[in-house]
Amino acid sequence: MIQDAIERIISPELIEQARAIIDRSQKIVITTHMSPDGDAVGSALALANYLRKKGKQANVVFNDTPGDNLRFIPGSRSELVFDNQRDGTPDTHEQAIQAIHEAECFICTDLNAPTRMGDMHKEVMANGAPKIIIDHHLEPDEAAFDVIISHPEASAACEVLYTFILQMGDDSLIDQQIATQLYCGMMTDTGQFIYSSSRPQVYMIVARLLQEGFDKEKLHRDLVLEPERRTRLKGYVLQQKVQILPASKAAYFSLNKAELKRFNHQKGDSEGFVNMPLDIYGIQVSAYFREEKNFVKVSLRSKGEFPVNLVAQKFYNGGGHRNAAGGEFFGTLQQAELLFVKAMQLFANYLEK
Ligand code: 5GP
Ligand code: MN
Repeated sequence: MIQDAIERIISPELIEQARAIIDRSQKIVITTHMSPDGDAVGSALALANYLRKKGKQANVVFNDTPGDNLRFIPGSRSELVFDNQRDGTPDTHEQAIQAIHEAECFICTDLNAPTRMGDMHKEVMANGAPKIIIDHHLEPDEAAFDVIISHPEASAACEVLYTFILQMGDDSLIDQQIATQLYCGMMTDTGQFIYSSSRPQVYMIVARLLQEGFDKEKLHRDLVLEPERRTRLKGYVLQQKVQILPASKAAYFSLNKAELKRFNHQKGDSEGFVNMPLDIYGIQVSAYFREEKNFVKVSLRSKGEFPVNLVAQKFYNGGGHRNAAGGEFFGTLQQAELLFVKAMQLFANYLEK
């Protein structure tokens, strides 16, 4: 069996600690990071479905609604949302608060620190119930969680979650929907198996999930479908907005509120744009600055050794992985951009020759 070849990467002590908490909890709340991406949504939904099959009352509470671009993940619009964005989805704020208050334990996927949950983290942390994380980010907040299942070597939180279910002895509970949700997280966090996916283990898990018979090719096709306004915005960014810093081997661009309005930008519309300049010969670092209500959302990407997580930490109140990081900047778009130009000079020694 494929399962037998899959490495049990989670320490047995952590599995038993998590099992003890889950066994004595009936009402379980699952949370993930704000502005959830495919891995956040896939892992939270798959975990909820798994726990429901174990007879638990499991609720996923998203801080904010998953973007329209994640609609292809089955169940992505069926869960509770803490902060409804008046985007046409039902307002479930009161139910979200109630579920958080009543939770007997929390399991947080694809996040390493409470603040990554967004505004809802205060409600969650105010409930003293045990908290488990299942994640693949660096430097989990050890003080904030009771059981920390953290594997930065993993391609996605969904990979860690599959291994968790396997090590819980529950591989047989994986059904077609759970397999699809787990696959979606791995497919999206790796950019369709380009990044962070060189470990053979990734494909053994994919092989196991494919045994459930979901339509893998359709998921990949649906993933890249986009509304016309996004295609147009992409053209505008590439044609008119991308700035190149040749000496720093970097590129950056920004979108202000007026531009976002002009293109009728909806949540998720510019997801992934920050990767585009990395396709230009010689470019190793890319940055995207988006003007929000009262801050600038910063997205950073790099190739090779350049640590954008350090840039995010030092300059933009953020963090992340070496090659994908982000943060929030409290100032103007222009200040955020100038800071990037300076940061690239300071970090020049990390660039590959
Ligand atoms: P994205 O650019 O897709 O929003 O984020 C890429 C990665 O950067 C995320 O997976 C996350 O690890 C990290 N990240 C993004 N925004 C923030 C932030 O505001 N704070 C921290 N600590 N990390 C962030
Ligand atoms: Mn992830």
